[in-house]
Amino acid sequence: MSGLLGFCRQGFEPELAAELTERAAMAGIAGYARAQRNDGYVLFASDEADALDRAMPSRDLVFARQKLRVLAELRGLDPRDRISPMLAALEGQRFGDLWVEHPDSDSAKPLAGLARSFGNALRPALRKAGVLSAQDDTRLPRLHVVFVQGDHAFLARSQPRDASPWPLGIPRLKLLPDAPSRSALKLEEALLVLLDADERARLLKPGMTAADLGAAPGGWTWVLTRQHLRVTSVDNGPLRQHVLDTGLVEHLRADGFHWKPAQSLDWMVCDMVEQPRRVAERMATWFREGWCRHAIFNLKLPMKKRWDETRLCLDLFAEQASRPLTVRARQLYHDREEITVFATRHS
Ligand code: SAM
Repeated sequence: MSGLLGFCRQGFEPELAAELTERAAMAGIAGYARAQRNDGYVLFASDEADALDRAMPSRDLVFARQKLRVLAELRGLDPRDRISPMLAALEGQRFGDLWVEHPDSDSAKPLAGLARSFGNALRPALRKAGVLSAQDDTRLPRLHVVFVQGDHAFLARSQPRDASPWPLGIPRLKLLPDAPSRSALKLEEALLVLLDADERARLLKPGMTAADLGAAPGGWTWVLTRQHLRVTSVDNGPLRQHVLDTGLVEHLRADGFHWKPAQSLDWMVCDMVEQPRRVAERMATWFREGWCRHAIFNLKLPMKKRWDETRLCLDLFAEQASRPLTVRARQLYHDREEITVFATRHS
C-alpha cells in the first residue's frame, strides 16, 4: 500500500476525497481515493506517492488537518504482538519521532488508550532496532502509527516542515473564561494554523488597525484586542462590555456588507453567516479597493457539493480581488459546516 492519508473532520470524507482526487489529477498523478463516511480519514492510493506528497503541500489542503505519506497498511494484527510486523515493515528506515494516533471519529476515539500504551511499548523497540533516533530529531521524518481498529493500522511518515505540528492535526486550545464566545477559538486557531510564527510576529503588531464584520458578541474582536490591535466592530447586535472596556474598540451598528473604512486598515476579519459566494465577493471587494492588507474570513458550506462550492468561492475571491494575494484555506478543528480563509496582499 502506498499513497497519502489525510485526517479530516468526521463526515467530511467525501470533500477531502474530492479535493485529493482533483489535486492529483491537476498534478497528472494517477490514483484513487478510498473513503468511508464518518471514518475521519481518507486514503489516496497511488504508486507515485512521493510525487503526490511533493505536489500537495499540507498548507494547500483545505479539508485535511494532517497529511501523511503511507508506508504500509497492516491488517489482522495479533493483539499479543503488534510490534514484530511493524518492525519488519520499517526495517532499514530511520525516524526522528514517533506519534501513535487514531482518527478523530466516533468509532476510532475508543482507541486512544491503546494508542497511548502501544506508543510506550513501541518506542523502546524502535530505538533498539535503530529505526527511531534516541532523542527527538526534527531533521528526520516523523513516524506515525495510525490505528483505525485494534487490529488494523497504517504506518506513515510526515516531514515536520510539511505537516501539522499537533497530533491528529488538532491544536488543543482552551477557551479562556473571559472569552465572549466559543467563536473566539476559531480565530485563535486560524492565527495558529494559517499563519506561521514569523507571519504572526510580522503581521500582528500592537497599534495595527482592524475591522471585524459580524462582530457580536465580540469573540474575534476580543482576540484581536489581546494582540493590542485597534478594532472597528461592525454588527447590529451588542458587544460584551468588557470588550468595549479595553478602550481599543469602536462599535458600529451597521451592515457589514455595505460598511467601508474611511482609511485603509491592516486587517479585516469577517464571521458573518451568509451565502458563501456573497461573502467571497465582498471580501474580494475589500482587497480590490485596498481597504485592508490581510484578512481572515469564514465561508459557510452548503449541504451538498461542498468541495465544488469551496473551489468556486476561492476562485471567485482570487479572481475578483484582482491583485496578487497569498490565500490559505482550511476547515479548522473549531469550524463546523464552514472553512476559514486567510488572505494577505503581496506588498
Ligand atoms: N465572530 C463573533 C464572535 O466571535 O463573537 C460571532 C459572530 S456570529 C457567528 C455572526 C454575527 O454576524 C451575528 O452577530 C450577526 O448579527 C452578524 N451579522 C450577520 N449579517 C450581518 C450583516 N449584514 N452586517 C453586520 N453583521 C451581520
